[in-house]
Amino acid sequence: MIRLHQIIAILLIFSSCNSDGERKETTENDNWYKGPIIDMHMHAESDNTLPPEKLALCLPLSNLVPHFDPKEEFGKVWDSTLKNPRCKTPIYSSTTFEDYSLRIQDQLNKLNVTPVVSGSQSILEEWSTKFGDKIIPSIEFNLERDSISVDSLKAIINTHDIKVFGEISNQYAGIAPNDPRMDSYYAMAEALNIPIAIHLGTGAPGSPYLFSPKYVAAYSNPLLLEEVLKKYPRLRISVMHYGEPFIDEMITMMYHYPQIYVDLGGIQWAYPSDYFYEFHLKKLISAGFGKRIMFGSDTFIWPELLEKSIEIINNAEFLTTEQKADIFYNNAARFLRLKK
Ligand SMILES: [Zn+2]
Repeated sequence: MIRLHQIIAILLIFSSCNSDGERKETTENDNWYKGPIIDMHMHAESDNTLPPEKLALCLPLSNLVPHFDPKEEFGKVWDSTLKNPRCKTPIYSSTTFEDYSLRIQDQLNKLNVTPVVSGSQSILEEWSTKFGDKIIPSIEFNLERDSISVDSLKAIINTHDIKVFGEISNQYAGIAPNDPRMDSYYAMAEALNIPIAIHLGTGAPGSPYLFSPKYVAAYSNPLLLEEVLKKYPRLRISVMHYGEPFIDEMITMMYHYPQIYVDLGGIQWAYPSDYFYEFHLKKLISAGFGKRIMFGSDTFIWPELLEKSIEIINNAEFLTTEQKADIFYNNAARFLRLKK
């Protein structure tokens, strides 16, 4: 989703407690999916991006700060929330890459997950050393933050065998998906035949008051991609966080532009499960797009968000095992054109 300071804010956003502050116990149901998983949305952390002290995440993120009086400073409220969790079993962040990578490794092995890992070139190199070909590298990009030319980016993609161009996080800088400054980058991705993954949707609660004063919630709207997809019809695109909560706009875009895929992008832990199931996941499935929804945990400084995310999808009783297999693996394998 974003970087360290942003991450710290987000941490608080996505903690998983029920109304009593307890994480819900889950048991494996009859159609629990146990096959291989591709996570389309993991962020690569390093010693430089992990917070210096342990931060405690309680879920769901949407009510991490249940109410707020603007006489206070939101950043202080946010920090306090992460340091004083209200749930009994929060997820704690790691403070060192050594500990973090061990926990990630444990998650990947235990849950049989191959992640698409988004990061800077230098951090991706660190992860490649640590995880080898167990990860699929994705180069992150923010037009305002990363002053990198199209040619330089293209060289990185080719030299380091980068498989995905994303997460494109321009929304945090107040840059719309159809901003003409992105044209040459989209053209490059189309020409290189590399899929792009773009952030459209919810960030951390209170983002504009934390780390992204330029964040524009309205730019979550997937209709803003229409002009882009007319200009670049061969662009392979994953809409991260499925443009949440613009679900009807997402549906009409998936209908009219059949090349669009979406990833769940952590929204499963951002909101209470009942809301996510009923108004988002079930709606996308009911509209007929079960072959274009991809699993995405949005794991960052809290490794166990991966496990939690898988659990939430597996607990969706309206999904068949076949539909879960599509979400967890088949759709991403097709989107990425993985060799069988
Ligand atoms: Zn994101």
